[in-house]
Amino acid sequence: MVDERHFRRLVEAMVELFGMPAAHRMLGAAGARTADYVRRNRIPSLARGVLRLLPDRWSRPLLLRAIQRHAWTFVGSGRMKHRRDRISIDGCLTCTGFTSEHPTGAFYQAAFESLLTHLVDPRLRVEETRCVARGDDACVFRIRRGDDPPYPTTSQA
Ligand SMILES: [Zn+2]
Repeated sequence: MVDERHFRRLVEAMVELFGMPAAHRMLGAAGARTADYVRRNRIPSLARGVLRLLPDRWSRPLLLRAIQRHAWTFVGSGRMKHRRDRISIDGCLTCTGFTSEHPTGAFYQAAFESLLTHLVDPRLRVEETRCVARGDDACVFRIRRGDDPPYPTTSQA
């Protein structure tokens, strides 16, 4: 387990050294790899198998509840909430205190999408549609099937 202050300093250093777009790409790759680690080492194989067999309407809420129970391990002092089609984080570690034209929660977006596509439905996509770095009141990650029309990324999202 890494102290959230160290993770936060790492994110700040990445943004300072490489700029926001490159840091965003690296954090997205890190989020996907973190999800791979969690999936392989923290979710029992029986649970992985059951989630994959169940239809989306049952497996998605089960997985989202499990993610919620372990939120303290990845959002630190932030607060995560979820509904079927969205995950929100207040006090997101990669976004709070930054100013950006684009959402900066690539780490979380990639981690959530990796878990959902591997354990629930490979067509699911996650997109951060609201972000405190852009001036929104919280970071919101919308969950949709890839063949659905995209969600708007304005503040009405
Ligand atoms: Zn954000």
